[in-house]
This record gives sequence, C-alpha cells and structure tokens, in this order.
Amino acid sequence: MEKGTINVSTENIFPIIKKFLYSEQDIFIRELVSNAIDATTKIQKLAQLGEAKGDLGELSIEIKLDKEAKTLTISDKGLGMTADEIKKYINTIALSSAEEFIEKFKKVDDKASIIGHFGLGFYSAFMVADVVEVVSKSYKDEPSAHWTCNGSTEFELKEGNRTERGTDIILHLSEEAKDYLEEHKVKEVLDKYCRFLPFPIFFGTKELTEKNEAGEEVKTIVAAQINNPNPAWVKNPKDLTDEDYMAFYKELYPYEPDPLFWIHLNTDFPFNLKGVLFFPKLKQTFEFQKAKINLYSNQVFVTDAVEQIVPEFLTLLQGVIDSPDIPLNVSRSYLQGDPNVKKITAHIVKKVADKLSEIFKNDRAGFEEKWESLSVFVKYGVISDEKFAERAKEFALVENTDKKYFTVEEYKEKIKANQTDKNDSLVALYTNHADAQYSYIAQAHDKGYDVLVMDSTIDNHYMQHLEYKGEKMVFKRVDADTMDKLIEKDTSSESVLNKEEEEQLKKYFQEVVTTPTATVELKALSPTDFPVLITKNEFMRRMQEMTRLSGGGNKMMDMDYFNLVVNTNHPLTAKLLKADESVRAEQIKHLYSLAMLSQGMLKGKALADFVKHSFGQLN
Ligand code: ADP
Ligand code: MG
Repeated sequence: MEKGTINVSTENIFPIIKKFLYSEQDIFIRELVSNAIDATTKIQKLAQLGEAKGDLGELSIEIKLDKEAKTLTISDKGLGMTADEIKKYINTIALSSAEEFIEKFKKVDDKASIIGHFGLGFYSAFMVADVVEVVSKSYKDEPSAHWTCNGSTEFELKEGNRTERGTDIILHLSEEAKDYLEEHKVKEVLDKYCRFLPFPIFFGTKELTEKNEAGEEVKTIVAAQINNPNPAWVKNPKDLTDEDYMAFYKELYPYEPDPLFWIHLNTDFPFNLKGVLFFPKLKQTFEFQKAKINLYSNQVFVTDAVEQIVPEFLTLLQGVIDSPDIPLNVSRSYLQGDPNVKKITAHIVKKVADKLSEIFKNDRAGFEEKWESLSVFVKYGVISDEKFAERAKEFALVENTDKKYFTVEEYKEKIKANQTDKNDSLVALYTNHADAQYSYIAQAHDKGYDVLVMDSTIDNHYMQHLEYKGEKMVFKRVDADTMDKLIEKDTSSESVLNKEEEEQLKKYFQEVVTTPTATVELKALSPTDFPVLITKNEFMRRMQEMTRLSGGGNKMMDMDYFNLVVNTNHPLTAKLLKADESVRAEQIKHLYSLAMLSQGMLKGKALADFVKHSFGQLN
C-alpha cells in the first residue's frame, strides 16, 4: 500500500478559479466592495476594543473610474494591510482572515457582520482585469505596501505611496471587460449588489442646489452616495412606524401599489435571520410577478431567484430576507438540502401563518376585505405546504355568491342541513363564472342551496385538495350533472311520462342533437325547472381544465363533453311528443340552442343562426 498527497499546482488551478468560480462577471464588484466593507467593519471593531487608536475619520468607500487609464478603483478607509499581510492573505488563494479575525475577537461576538468567508472573493478581480494593483496602508505603524499582479502566479511587492489608512484596489480592465468603463454599467451593478451595504458608498457625482447666507441658490458638485446603509430590516422593529415600512417598500418597489401588510423577521437563534416580507396586492390570477423577494447576506445582495430557498408559495411575497446562514457561494440545488435553509424556511412559513392568523383574529372584517388579494397566496400555500395547510384551517376562507365569507369548518356547518347527496357527503355547489351560470345559480338558490364562488385559476386544485384532505365534502359546479342528485332528493319527482313516451322523446332529441360530444339524458325534474339543461361531468370538466392549464395537449381530454338533460316533467316536453313532426324538430333545435346559450356554448355561426331564427319566429 502507498499513501500520499495529491499535488495541486497553482499554475493550473488559477485559471480555473478565475473562469469558473463565478457564473457572472458582475460579481467582482460585489466581492471587492464586500472586502472594503469588511475592512471598514474591522477597523470599527478594533477601535471599539481600543486596538486602533485615534479618530477613525469618515468611514466610507469610494469607487472611481478613469477612462484614460482604463482603470476601476475601489478605495476604502478600513484597517489596511501591511506588506506581510498582503503576502499572507492576498497571495494565498483560499486563505481568509475572516475566521482568524473572528476567533481573535470572539468576545465582540460579531460573526454575523463579516461578509468574507472563503478567501476566494479577491480573485474575481482577474475575471475583468489584466493587471490588479493593491495599494494599502495598515492602521498599524508600518509603511504602505504596493502589490501588482498580472494574473499569472507571479507578483511584485514594493513600498507604496499611500499615506492614509486604507486600501485601493486598482483594476486595469481587460479589453473584454471594457463595459465597466461606462458609468451606467458600474452604477447598475452597484445598485444591484451594494444598495444596502452598511457603510456609505460613493460613485460618481451629483449636482446639489443649496441656499447660501444671502438666500441665493448655489450649485455644487458633490460625490453621489449610491446606497442606504440603514435599511428597515436591520433596524429594531420597535423603532419603526408603519410609515417607515411603507417608505422602505417604496424604496424597493417604486411602481407597485401599497402592500397589504408586512412581517418583520428578526431572529438570532438558532440561526440568524432578518428581513421584512410584504404581502402585495394580488389579483385572482397568477400574474407575472416582477417584484420578488430579494435574498441578502449581511446586507450584500445575493439573488432574487429564491425559489430554491423559500417554498414556492412564499415567492408571491415581496421584500427582503437577510441571513448570513444561507451559504453564498454554493449552487442552488445544494441550498435546497441545506439544513439551515430548511430551518429558515420552516421559520418563515410559521411567521407568515402567525401573521395571517393574528389579523384574522383581531380584525376579521379587515381580513375579509383583503381576502381577494390574500386568497391566491393562502390557497397556494394550503395546496403545497402541509404545515401551512394545518395552520390555514383557522383563516382560509371560502366566499359565496352573496359575498359572505366562511372558514371551511363554518361552511360545512352552514350547509350540512340540506346539502348532502345520496351518500350523505356534504355537497358544496360552486360557480366559476357567476354571470354565465346565472340561471343555474338562481335555480340552486330557489331550492335553498348555497353557492360558492370559485373563479380563480387555482380553485380547481384547491377544491381537489379539500376533497382529498379529508374535509368530507365534495364540490360540484352549479351546472354539473351531479347537481341533480341534490335536486332529485328533495323533489323526488316521478316522471309523468311512461317508459314508451320517454323512449320516444329521447329518440326525437337524439335525432336533432347529433354533436358527437353530446349525450341526451332524461331526468324527472320539477315542472318549474328548465325544460332542457346542459350539464357537464364534474370530474371530466375539472380534469380538462387542469390539463389545459398545465399546457397538456391530450386530444381526448380537450373535447368538450356534455349532457343535454331533458326534463320529462316540464309541460313543454309533453307537448313535444304530441307535436307535428315538422314543428317538433324545429322546437327541439330551438330548445337545444337555448340550453347551449345559457351555458355560453353557442358561438360563431351557430349563434348567428339562432338569433336569425328567433327573429324569424317573431313574424
Ligand atoms: P474573504 O473575503 O472571503 O476573506 P477574499 O479573497 O475576498 O476572501 O479576501 C482575502 C483576504 O484578503 C481577506 O480575508 C482580507 O484579509 C484581505 N483583504 C481583501 N481585501 C481587503 C481590503 N480592502 N482591506 C483589507 N484587507 C483585505
Ligand atoms: Mg471577500
């Protein structure tokens, strides 16, 4: 047997790191500005501990462009590095001072506020620069150091000319990266990643108009600060008013309507999580959501693609979550399995449920008013997250055609007296289009049945979920073929026609109704019901809608099967039997058209023909 060490040669690994470490070039700005922030945080800590003496001065970061020299420079007034420290931290790939710093100053317990971890960020500079210079002056009484590297494994280190404490990182941008010589490009990236970093960041200039002592307006050019170092989520919830949250919302989403309410997340244990989540005004449909949740880590923007981090239904929320416990530099698919991420997700789900339940309990009327916006979110949550579904029983509502709201439990109580089918299951009737199904709703109301409104895209799935999750109720659309189970039960009508007459009648109808997807069916309904109705099989119809929604192209599923129900007890149908052959076919055709019309199924030529025919009959 032989044991040994694998030999990693820097010459080979270096280009790989430069090329593959980060998927996006823009990231170099995030990494270098983060390092500047870390250096600034550290000098502040050192001063607090009495390790750094004297006045620290203004702690800001500046980004400068020099189009002629083709350089982009990031300057900080942080703790700086001595020549030895540069050799140690910069020259060694994957050596970070973060752990050491934290270890050394454990008592300050500020692990959370240092961004760096892996000791790789600095090298992202070589994704855009041919040559990188580091000019640094440590807070320690040592000369300034000047390091230069052209992206090979060789470097040059000499004494620098920086006199003030801090570090300049000078990037000599490569030909391929010359985009970063444009202000707007750099500004865009800074806005994305650095907008809420904790120290002032300046880039470019702006014109400031001020009044002087004589009251005259004077214009001055000043450096423009691009960030808000104190966003709402890092503050103590106790110190914030509703206006503060609204202002923060507008800062994040200037073009969105006001949110309904928000949740301030603020946890240190067993994980560190801060954030403010807003409930937006949502329409009944899944609209394309532009404003999403942004994930931050110590105020550094990480991503707005949080699908892998929070359950999908939470992605309908807006706002910010900030957690240094969500690893920054790993792949998305890994994140999903990360135990910390799982805990964080569960925590957010719980907080969201707490908030909804709190509002429901304290202000039910207000909750009902917001239900239109909340319903998609809550229903989505109920369908996709068991824990949330359990909690949502308290506050998930159904709405009926009279605009009254009930929890599922309350609703079952309401309908249990007369809305049961032959198997004694509770039958909840619903409409997905109150106008189109007006006559069916009116019929149901006449019989004392209640009708729910289930007209959003998610409702088919939601009803199916309630049916399968042991709510012991079934949903039937008001025009479903099974609705007559209820009707049969309380009218218990006998057909006034005998068997022969029924067979005749059915034959007459079948001769006229030749549509292949239609089935003629006789039913002994009440004489006051419609003479003919169109009903659809609840199961088939719902399956069809769901396949269509998911873009499924099954031909069979796409056919519009329906029943034409002929009410044998209606006086008109008895008359049809006795009518003249020529008139009968016309009348059946007319009845069929009327039934189609009341279901919104009469279209195009058929509709035009029907109208023309009806006009003709008025003569
Ligand atoms: P990380 O930030 O994960 O520690 P980096 O590759 O970004 O890794 O940086 C490596 C080390 O270089 C840092 O830990 C820090 O000690 C040092 N460093 C980088 N940039 C600066 C800076 N602007 N000021 C002081 N030290 C810095
Ligand atoms: Mg770093």
